Amino acid sequence: MYIVPEKDIAALVGAEDSFEAVRQVFGAMAAGSAYNFPVIREAIGHADALYGFKSGFDRQGLNLGLKSGGYWPGNTAKGLTNHQSTVFLFDAETGKCRAIVGGNLLTALRTAAAAAVSVACLARVNARVLGIVGAGHQAAFQLRAVAAQRRFERVVAWNRSPEKLASLGAVARELGLDFEAVSLQELGAQADVIITITSSYAAILADAHVKPGTHIACMGTDTKGKQEVEAALVARASLFTDEVAQSVSIGECQHAIAAGLVAPDAIAMLGAVINRTHPGRQSDDEITLFDGTGVGLQDLAVAATAVQRAIEQGRAIEVAF
Ligand code: NAD
Repeated sequence: MYIVPEKDIAALVGAEDSFEAVRQVFGAMAAGSAYNFPVIREAIGHADALYGFKSGFDRQGLNLGLKSGGYWPGNTAKGLTNHQSTVFLFDAETGKCRAIVGGNLLTALRTAAAAAVSVACLARVNARVLGIVGAGHQAAFQLRAVAAQRRFERVVAWNRSPEKLASLGAVARELGLDFEAVSLQELGAQADVIITITSSYAAILADAHVKPGTHIACMGTDTKGKQEVEAALVARASLFTDEVAQSVSIGECQHAIAAGLVAPDAIAMLGAVINRTHPGRQSDDEITLFDGTGVGLQDLAVAATAVQRAIEQGRAIEVAF
């Protein structure tokens, strides 16, 4: 069995590897050869923690396993990140544990990769302005992964606390992109692609803010009750997701579904676009919206890449188990 510690992940897996891993598994999910098992998430009644498992099996990639972890709000005071996760991979032929992999950085990489795959599949080819709503931990990963998918020239960004945008601006400039902090109205008027990555429980981006032809990747809403964009905007868009069952229950589409504005069968799997069984964007005026809810198979896919790279580079710790 191999161990790949959290401290080694940054040297082993980057945005491009993550993009390929997530693209493959989204395609496998839409083809019916990869599926996620029911998610467990529990408030454990200790340390104010939320703990759970996300698991699944990809028969194409032969990735079987789970991500285990959650949210420990008191960790910052202990010098640790609040989100803690570990991925366990199992041999699909024997059930033996194959690897234990640090899952914290991988979570950010696989989430950003999902948005990047959606941009690669659905954004207009001539998209030049990237809008980002949110400036928390995930935002810079999103910017790095998505910037590579089109010939972007400029980033416009909004955050509830504007002072937090400075570090996102530094990442944009490092990537050779102009950066401007703007109002939501300006962001919607300028951006060809918009990423929303906040933990908001009420709509931030309004239907009226967004111009025709925009691609929106809603990445922050992964829990019942969270919301980043107005339900009317969801109803106006052509809808895509990683997994429909999550989109309608814990994803951005939950509110438009509850209001009766959208039917579940109007939401396509992004993997169908990857597999070319869905045409994706059909006009330059269409608004496309990807509801990225986050599935366990994404974690397994990037963790398997980390193990492969660690073995290739002689960095995997091998233990008899
Ligand atoms: P973070 O705590 O570092 O940052 C939170 C961000 O949300 C900040 O920009 C903050 O200003 C903004 N925000 C919070 N409440 C808001 C409100 N009411 N109105 C406007 N902005 C608000 O969090 P993070 O690690 O960057 O994660 C952001 C979101 O992404 C979280 O909701 C997290 O659960 C989600 N997430 C989703 C996936 C996925 O696969 N879809 C994966 C990881 C994280």
